[in-house]
Amino acid sequence: MDLEELRRGASQCTACDLALRRRNVVFGEGNPTSPLVLIGEGPGDTEDLTGRPFVGKAGKLLDQALIELGLTREDVYICNTVKCRACDWSTGKPVNRAPTPFESATCRQWLLPQLALIKPEVILCIGAPSARNLIKKNFKITAERGQWFSCEVAPHAIATLHPSYIQRCQSAGSDGGYSLFVADIQAAWERASLIRTTKSL
Ligand code: URA
Repeated sequence: MDLEELRRGASQCTACDLALRRRNVVFGEGNPTSPLVLIGEGPGDTEDLTGRPFVGKAGKLLDQALIELGLTREDVYICNTVKCRACDWSTGKPVNRAPTPFESATCRQWLLPQLALIKPEVILCIGAPSARNLIKKNFKITAERGQWFSCEVAPHAIATLHPSYIQRCQSAGSDGGYSLFVADIQAAWERASLIRTTKSL
């Protein structure tokens, strides 16, 4: 099975009820040979509409951070723990919500093989839900972001603040943690590329 076959399988997935309302499965994109995979929680409205990860407001902040580091989205691979938008429709209008534990667990049937095929040296979990899914259940994002862990899907894992959280915290006097976000991506990239270069020598 290659990544394209896996993507095709995911695009037909009906394993949970998120399939009922999604417009697109947001599988992931970027460089599948990259040593670094960035993993968010799940798609929002713009991602659901376009089928691409991190292309809404949060994605703009991620793009800005990558540019500051001299990177592009093509240097890394970007995906989410859950591939379909989690939404509450009880008011008739879609309101984003966190994926349920069942939805997150069910979607591992796509996430785990995806990461097994890419074989990143480093994963960067973006936000607490991603870190709790992939690093450890009780991950404390403010205390443990920027620290190194090992995990099931990669030899090295690190987590950072979610750009949506940073945007909510930004004010005239505070960058909301944006500089930490940039530093964490930099640390992840430096370690990932160093390991990959060393392996190729
Ligand atoms: N937030 C995420 O966690 N992932 C996306 O793709 C977009 C917003």
